[in-house]
Amino acid sequence: MKNALLLPSRKKIPINNIYCVGQNYAEHAKEMGSTVADVPVIFLKPTSAVVESGSSVIIPAMSNNVHHEVELTVLIGTSGRNIPAGEALKHVAGYGIGLDMTMRDIQSEAKKHGKPWTTAKGFYTSAPLSSFMEVSAISDPQNLDFSLTVNGVQRQKTNTSKMNFKIHELISFLSTVFSLEEGDVIFTGTPEGVAQVIEGDVLNAELHGITTLTTTVTMEKNS
Ligand code: MG
Repeated sequence: MKNALLLPSRKKIPINNIYCVGQNYAEHAKEMGSTVADVPVIFLKPTSAVVESGSSVIIPAMSNNVHHEVELTVLIGTSGRNIPAGEALKHVAGYGIGLDMTMRDIQSEAKKHGKPWTTAKGFYTSAPLSSFMEVSAISDPQNLDFSLTVNGVQRQKTNTSKMNFKIHELISFLSTVFSLEEGDVIFTGTPEGVAQVIEGDVLNAELHGITTLTTTVTMEKNS
């Protein structure tokens, strides 16, 4: 079982479902040849995709183009269904930073044929997660800087104020479709600047002043 680590208490919460939001920053939607959606675009990753800071992302043998997508992550602390937007943030236990690693070549092929993104988005090690900071330590989750460097060079940087659907709207929406549960994690979308990673790359993601995540990239060994 994979656990989310809540700071500063160091409480561990078993990770339940992992919901991801697509095309939630206008500039990233644009670089993908798209626009932000009228209704949140949601996909899932299995919990087996989670790796903690200090571990490696393994590029699957089937892909020649794995991309990084740095994202604010939300850890749900209180279950709920049909949560009103005005109550939504009360269901959050903490905030962190995560990487929605994506096999872009596999995803592009899936998009072309109207097929699901599960393989492209949910492969083993595709969800590096930092520890989460308890909500009491964060004054405004909708005004947080976050960024990603690869080998020390900045690749992505934004502020959570630029989200199309805000955190409370995403939580409310998800709870009307699904049943949000304690331990669910939400990847809230990536800004522009997504690009390929290769073997040996060192990725450092940071939710500024709050938490960090480091991962290295390795290749799947053909047996
Ligand atoms: Mg993403």
